[in-house]
Amino acid sequence: MREHFGVDKDKHASSQFADSSDERQGNRTATIYKNEQTQSSRDAELQSIVAQFWGIHEFRPLQREACEAVLNARDSLVVMPTGGGKSLCYQAPAVLLGGTTVVVSPLISLMKDQVDGLKACGINAVRLDSSRDLACRLDEAKQVLLGKVQLLFVSPERLLQDEFCELLRQIDFKALAIDEAHCVSHWGHDFRPEYRQLGRLRKLFPHVSLHAYTATATERVRLDIVKQLELKDAEILIGDFDRSNLQYSVVSRHGSLVDQVLSVIERYPKQGGIVYCISRADVDELCAKLVKAGISAKPYHAGMPAEARVKTQDAFLQERCDVVVATVAFGMGIDRSNVRYVIHAGMPKSLEHYQQEAGRAGRDGLPAECVLLHSGSDFFTWKGLIERSAREAGIDNAYVESAIAHLNEMSNYCRIGSCRHGILVRYFGQEFSKESCAACDICLGQTIAVDDGQVLAQKILSCVARLKGRYGVSYLIGVLRGDNTKNIRDRGHQAISTYGILREQSIDDLRDWIFQLIHQGALAQEQIETAAGLGVSVVSLTKNAWEVMRNERQVKLMQSLVKKKAQVRKSPGRASISEASSDADENLFDAMRKLRRTLADERKVPPYVIFSDATLKEMIQVRPKTLAQMRMVHGIGDKKLQQYGDMFLQLINEA
Ligand code: ADP
Repeated sequence: MREHFGVDKDKHASSQFADSSDERQGNRTATIYKNEQTQSSRDAELQSIVAQFWGIHEFRPLQREACEAVLNARDSLVVMPTGGGKSLCYQAPAVLLGGTTVVVSPLISLMKDQVDGLKACGINAVRLDSSRDLACRLDEAKQVLLGKVQLLFVSPERLLQDEFCELLRQIDFKALAIDEAHCVSHWGHDFRPEYRQLGRLRKLFPHVSLHAYTATATERVRLDIVKQLELKDAEILIGDFDRSNLQYSVVSRHGSLVDQVLSVIERYPKQGGIVYCISRADVDELCAKLVKAGISAKPYHAGMPAEARVKTQDAFLQERCDVVVATVAFGMGIDRSNVRYVIHAGMPKSLEHYQQEAGRAGRDGLPAECVLLHSGSDFFTWKGLIERSAREAGIDNAYVESAIAHLNEMSNYCRIGSCRHGILVRYFGQEFSKESCAACDICLGQTIAVDDGQVLAQKILSCVARLKGRYGVSYLIGVLRGDNTKNIRDRGHQAISTYGILREQSIDDLRDWIFQLIHQGALAQEQIETAAGLGVSVVSLTKNAWEVMRNERQVKLMQSLVKKKAQVRKSPGRASISEASSDADENLFDAMRKLRRTLADERKVPPYVIFSDATLKEMIQVRPKTLAQMRMVHGIGDKKLQQYGDMFLQLINEA
């Protein structure tokens, strides 16, 4: 999708700049560049640079257009899902343009990752951040001044400092790339006040083009980014939001949580995965249980000391730890591309959060799995947390209402029996026309609708009617199952006609269906105050309930979230290339991972900076015999070929 809009509708911004004075050199160079070269020769040059440095032989959708915007010095906003390949959109033009492209990034870990990756490809990139020692910073600043640095990474705070702006005035500052640009917007999920100040750069460097990149797609955020950064006649490029390599499923949280989590982890032995929990206490508890079960897992949440958090993050990035159990605090800095699964041990608070968190799986484009373990009570846990924090912070009702609307959307995602890829893509305002995604529990037929759901629903609703809407979920389940408890006997509820009417059903199923009825609007859950002044939550009928009972309205109950066992992905039993791979391939994969690890440790970079899993797998498939053949493998540019080619060829020959 390609749109044009901006705060300034001047369609001829770049040609105007071409006529202006020498001070506007940055922009002039780009414009002259545009004028002097034909489209096709520039395309060829771009393609050749991308192959030479990155070993990438084909652009992904919109990458070429995004690169052209930078080369033409035209402001742009590029929205691509996580893993879509946003970095190449400013990195490749930076190499082609010469001079220096400045990249703003919100986290040191993100900058480090990109700089390591660029250096490994033979591109001179540096990051100026406070974590480096002074000598190092001075040396790198010198390189910048000498015009030797193609990509310069900085935090938004540093970029806005007078001293730094002065440095930029002295160099051939070509373009400004703003990574994670949703941080600019209040409406995004990671608002950063310093990002909002970046609009000032427009005035300080009016002739440097601005390019914003984000994975957040809502229109409101997009418009806000354009406005706050004062983008002019911006080229807006919006990618396809479907992450077709991700397999989504929602599973009811039943029985032991750790067993449910383990059943997913065990399908991906020795591979990277993230488990998200709602609270810090849940993180600590679940992580301890996983470690006890022999899993290489580490915790991460904002309540831990900074040092411990960095340790967890580094261990995960360097593949010294397979699983991170975390709250949402574990997020933006996670660039490990071979995360094979993301498990949510509780429902996230919005679809936007889910897209971001689950989206950390499979950035390398290989198949990955996103499993959401859901309970109807998650909604109420979040609702309580949101209301409490709003009360404590004195935030108005509008915020609470909007947060609850997001929760409802998220709940519906868990409850509705339609394609999960479709729900996510449509949420971000795009069409989803495939009949079946073949990559979610619904389309794969892993969920089961209850045969007589309408009748079951009528039985539950009539029991609520007989209890006069005065009791909570657990009590209702007790009456439906005919529990012989003192409470029920004291109230005489063993005598009502619906007592024991669903005695053959399990507590978990009944709980699930009651919440499904709440989400379908047939039941309401509300807080009331008892005579003793205690707040309790009760289940009552809605207007729709009477229509369901009279068969004027249909409801559908899913056994939903219980998987047909045979259809769940099988465990390959080890870190695997594919379910169909041979033992020889698997052994070679192991050997390559070992070599990659050794090389990474020697260079103090994460293993995926040496080669991604996708590159290793392609090498195993193609089995190159010469360096020339190896050079055609995705992810192997000239520098990596020269540095590692022989070592990997030897492994392939020995296999
Ligand atoms: P994003 O920032 O959009 O999340 P990245 O820029 O980190 O994504 O890219 C994700 C992965 O995709 C990286 O491993 C990158 O090397 C790879 N990649 C980028 N562009 C291409 C391409 N055209 N072909 C193959 N792989 C690509």
